[in-house]
Amino acid sequence: MTACWPAHDAWQHALRNAITDPNELLAKLALPVQLGDAAALAQFALRVPRELVARIRPGDPEDPILLQVLPQQQEMIPVSGFSADPLAELGANPMPGVVHKYRDRVLLIGSGGCAINCRYCFRRHFPYQDNQLGGEHWQQALTYIDTHPELEEAILSGGDPLVTPDSRLKRMVADLAQRSHLKRLRVHTRLPIVIPDRVTEGLVNALTGTRLKPVLVLHCNHPQEIDDSVRDAIKRLIRAGITVLNQAVLLRGINESVDTQKALSETLFECGVLPYYLFVLDPVAGAAHFDISDAEAKQLVAKLQACLPGYLVPRLAREIPGEPSKTLLLPGQ
Ligand SMILES: *Cc1c(COP(=O)(O)O)cnc(C)c1O
Ligand code: SF4
Repeated sequence: MTACWPAHDAWQHALRNAITDPNELLAKLALPVQLGDAAALAQFALRVPRELVARIRPGDPEDPILLQVLPQQQEMIPVSGFSADPLAELGANPMPGVVHKYRDRVLLIGSGGCAINCRYCFRRHFPYQDNQLGGEHWQQALTYIDTHPELEEAILSGGDPLVTPDSRLKRMVADLAQRSHLKRLRVHTRLPIVIPDRVTEGLVNALTGTRLKPVLVLHCNHPQEIDDSVRDAIKRLIRAGITVLNQAVLLRGINESVDTQKALSETLFECGVLPYYLFVLDPVAGAAHFDISDAEAKQLVAKLQACLPGYLVPRLAREIPGEPSKTLLLPGQ
């Protein structure tokens, strides 16, 4: 069967057409406008694609997708230990757009933008605008890779790197493929979940068109984020030979139950996606109300281990500044 590809520019329209007005969002969902918060909105804008809004249950103020995107009053309450730059990213940049923390993998900030603004994201305070890989910065990044022969994998991250047009991605991947010490190309993205039309023929060709082995890590937190359009998008990626994994963030009020996590792993696997990481929250100012203690998180994953095959249990992890890799909360997992 031939794949049915979306129009090549439908996603760009969806991106521009995202909802940014909380009152519009709440009215669409038949919810009272008092649910939003102007100060939180001013600190970090609301942005949610209409494709994703269609998966929010109308009339439910606790909907797990709504809670990820709606600016709320709790965000403005300072909590000790929660800061603007919890991962010390600002110190790990050898040059604009390049984050090299782990020996053999380098993270390249392909785009500062995102299709969605997730309230728990550390990006809410990070100056991405000054830190992306346009023109001359891209050449500098390539030179950086050339002078680091220990690198084996380039990771396109962001923001969301797939906000970048296919033609530019294709050139970037081709440039990376010329670095003979690189073996793998990884993309970290939430776009196939929030705007499934992003998985165009041009994108798939760009990712699979070189000798680099492509891996795509999705970001999906709740099974309700996956509908038929997402299933089809994932199918297009997998059919092209791309390895597809998922990382999620553990969020209070959204996905902290055993049932939800089990359903997330099972739903992903039905689409051919393996769970990779389940991250505990980065202590970013404005997101403290989503936090789950380490003890609760470990208990949750222990319960998942008892009711799922090992390959469907995500690794519970945290990023600690200065460590040579992500840190697992359950060593040996
Ligand atoms: C998370 C991260 C990676 C990738 O780590 P993996 O454990 O391989 O998924 C690479 N570089 C940076 C800077 C990261 O934050
Ligand atoms: S898609 Fe990822 S980078 Fe963008 S706001 Fe959400 S969590 Fe942050």
